[in-house]
Amino acid sequence: MAEKKITTRRVMAGDREILYQLERKAVKNLNLRVREDGSVYASAPRRVPAAEVDAFVASRGAFILRAAARMEERQRQKRGPGRALEGERIRVLGEDLILTLRRGEGPGLLREGERLVLRVRDPDDPAERQKTLEAGLDRLCREVFREILDELYPLVGERGAAKPVLRIRRMKSRWGSCLPGKGIVTLNRALLEAPRECIRYVALHELCHLIHPDHSGRFYDLLSGWMPDWKRRKALLREQVIL
Ligand SMILES: [Zn+2]
Repeated sequence: MAEKKITTRRVMAGDREILYQLERKAVKNLNLRVREDGSVYASAPRRVPAAEVDAFVASRGAFILRAAARMEERQRQKRGPGRALEGERIRVLGEDLILTLRRGEGPGLLREGERLVLRVRDPDDPAERQKTLEAGLDRLCREVFREILDELYPLVGERGAAKPVLRIRRMKSRWGSCLPGKGIVTLNRALLEAPRECIRYVALHELCHLIHPDHSGRFYDLLSGWMPDWKRRKALLREQVIL
């Protein structure tokens, strides 16, 4: 019987299972890539036993899982907000919470442990679900960002900076910005997905601009003095949230 050209195979990488498509082709070497939709594809010459391809894929497991997660996240962001369905995973402050729908008066969003409980009048109405979810996340975002800014402000306040106005915007290419002359600090709404320590880093960076508007050595001395591990937080942020 002729061998099927493309087969789906599964391998284990640590405790995670990886599904991949193996295509037999007239190629010289084994090729591996993660497609835009997060699926994993390998092409290999016929002479290489499938077990050998499996071992190769498994050895690249950490890379594949990371790449797949990034691709999925990118796709998810392209699609825009989810459909607010029961069981959907919503990333909040670095944690994947599971959306749970409840019917009830007084629509709203509440965290209960691992769950994000969305209370709506009609769980079958996608528009109400989505609107309530977005409003709840916006409110949470404002609370968290406000709290972090209030907590950090005294540092720059003691240096003479007036308390800035907080703005929250969805931005495509930056985590935050600061208009020192106008006393406005803007934080990206996407930061709500990041761990709190990452949001604190962005907030402090922007607050430091109230003292030094540029990215001079003095600016970084100030930031590093208050937050010696800001580079680690910045790296973590880039890993966790894709703009
Ligand atoms: Zn800056």
